[in-house]
Amino acid sequence: MSSRAEVVVVGAGLAGLSAAVRLAAAGVDVHVLEAGAHAGGRLSTERIDGFVVDRGFQVLNTGYPRAADLDLGALQLGWFERGAVVRVDGTAHRVVDPRQRPADVLGTATAPVGSLRDKAALAAFSVRAGYLPVGRLLAAPERTAEQALRAAGVGSTALDRFFRPFLAGVLLEDELGTSSRYLDLLWRSFVRGSIGLPARGMQAVGEQLADRLAPGRLSLHTAARSVSPGSVVTDDGTWSATAVVVATDPDTAARLLPAVEASAPRQVTTHLHVLPESPWRRPLIVLGAPGGRLVNSVVVSDAQPRYSPDGRALLASSTLAPTREEEVRAEIAAAHDVAPDDLDHLTTVTVPGAQPAALPPLRLRRPVELGDGLFVCGDHRDTPSIQGAMASGARAARAVLRTVRPAHHDDRRTS
Ligand SMILES: Cc1cc2nc3c(=O)[nH]c(=O)nc-3n(C[C@H](O)[C@H](O)[C@H](O)COP(=O)(O)OP(=O)(O)OC[C@H]3O[C@@H](n4cnc5c(N)ncnc54)[C@H](O)[C@@H]3O)c2cc1C
Repeated sequence: MSSRAEVVVVGAGLAGLSAAVRLAAAGVDVHVLEAGAHAGGRLSTERIDGFVVDRGFQVLNTGYPRAADLDLGALQLGWFERGAVVRVDGTAHRVVDPRQRPADVLGTATAPVGSLRDKAALAAFSVRAGYLPVGRLLAAPERTAEQALRAAGVGSTALDRFFRPFLAGVLLEDELGTSSRYLDLLWRSFVRGSIGLPARGMQAVGEQLADRLAPGRLSLHTAARSVSPGSVVTDDGTWSATAVVVATDPDTAARLLPAVEASAPRQVTTHLHVLPESPWRRPLIVLGAPGGRLVNSVVVSDAQPRYSPDGRALLASSTLAPTREEEVRAEIAAAHDVAPDDLDHLTTVTVPGAQPAALPPLRLRRPVELGDGLFVCGDHRDTPSIQGAMASGARAARAVLRTVRPAHHDDRRTS
């Protein structure tokens, strides 16, 4: 069977969907081919015993510039508080953003996560990342995240008890070898936005974008086997197109397009448990302790009550190295000060290619146009995040429009 569209997009993750939606809005005849069973790619959710279970713990950060492309109201987000719980010698301490919780200033100031000087350094680092123009942030000398934090005056205690586990949950590495440029952009989004979970799970983010495509424009269960200028081969036949956008995960993109270099993948293992009720009164991420295996453990249903069918608490606890549930059960119980036997194990998932590494030198805005009508987008072209995926899709759409609608592009530039 052979089919034709003006533009074929391979992959219905946030990058491919962001590109396709923009192209469709510009009047382009676009068709999306997706190997999997759902739209949204790595944002994937299933229901287990009535619980909403995301494939690995992840959150939507409204501080991302591209969050503006989403209808956040329709996602019915439930929110985490800005900050985290740090457990030291068995006692839980809250470290929270004083702008959100002025009443907690004293508790945060006295929490054993470093000296007052460390906390002042954290505040100054946050003001700089949150409010300097992005151009100034990116013009700063690049180093590793740990070097940047130490240079900002953050000492070892604050680094090991707060920053390392907090950032490990996002960067999926705990050496803090990630580029300081990505740390700056990431921290900026934390300062400027809030983090939340959609009522129907993270997959709803991708599905919202997919719903903006006209019916029949997305083919699920359709893997591209090979891509060449003007053509995409699938098991069901060949698609011809003026432009082809490869919007897959980085490994597949490197396989389909020799011009795309492979990237080092980060992985994460997440254990899901149920408790009869939440041990906490506020929705905060509990950080793993130094020397432990957990990076964090979170009562996700405290932030988004719709993740639970009946008011029981749903916990997501993550480790960087693959772990078996019985290896970390006691640590999870200690993080929440409950008995190990109280935890009812729901499922465990390991995501091997959760996101590409962002080591220095970070190459932001890697080329999305490869020539001969071939384009590429995905989190490996920008930053390893929802923001990076959506921004790369937007860039790819603009590049495609320059090729397939040169007049439209010129009109936009002159209007
Ligand atoms: C557990 C976990 C936690 C995370 N936490 C966060 C977080 O808190 N905040 C954040 O910003 N980011 C987080 N991320 C990263 C974020 O999810 C990704 O950066 C982003 O979703 C990548 O989108 P993408 O469109 O580039 O790629 P993908 O989502 O991988 O989409 C690629 C699509 O291409 C499809 N595909 C692959 N091969 C083919 C083929 N041959 N033919 C057709 N289709 C194909 C795939 O099925 C997939 O649907 C996390 C990721 C994981 C897994």
